[in-house]
Amino acid sequence: MMKPKLLISACLTGKNTKYSGGNNLSPFLSELEKRFDLYLICPEVMGGLPTPRDPSEQKNNKVFSNTGKDVTKEFELGARLSLEIALKNNIQFALLKESSPSCGTHQIYDGTFSGKKIPGEGVAAQLLKEHGIQLYSENEILELLKEQTNED
Ligand code: SF4
Repeated sequence: MMKPKLLISACLTGKNTKYSGGNNLSPFLSELEKRFDLYLICPEVMGGLPTPRDPSEQKNNKVFSNTGKDVTKEFELGARLSLEIALKNNIQFALLKESSPSCGTHQIYDGTFSGKKIPGEGVAAQLLKEHGIQLYSENEILELLKEQTNED
């Protein structure tokens, strides 16, 4: 039987795409690979930003690095390219890294680079959601496995 398709933040699969040059490897990766066909995205890299890169945060509907560089265009391009992959492959679910200015599904940093989080969505997460893709964070993997696969 065909496995459901899942869009996933590349850093959750162990790719070193984080701003720091590291990753956010999920302890559930092998389970996810077993249950889903994974389609990896890293909106920030796809938008043309290097790795490692300066951390960025959203502020007033734009995105700035911690050195004050406006990286909104790169973030928006990465979001559009991520959406393109989802639409082209008819993907209905995405598992995204929480709190990222691209991938955050429930919260983001508040734009002051002080470590404070506020409710909100990353640029790519928001665009995917607007197009009807159901978002899960890495804190909701168990729900994802339960709701979107038939096995128990
Ligand atoms: S943009 Fe998303 S996929 Fe890329 S490193 Fe950040 S959280 Fe991970």
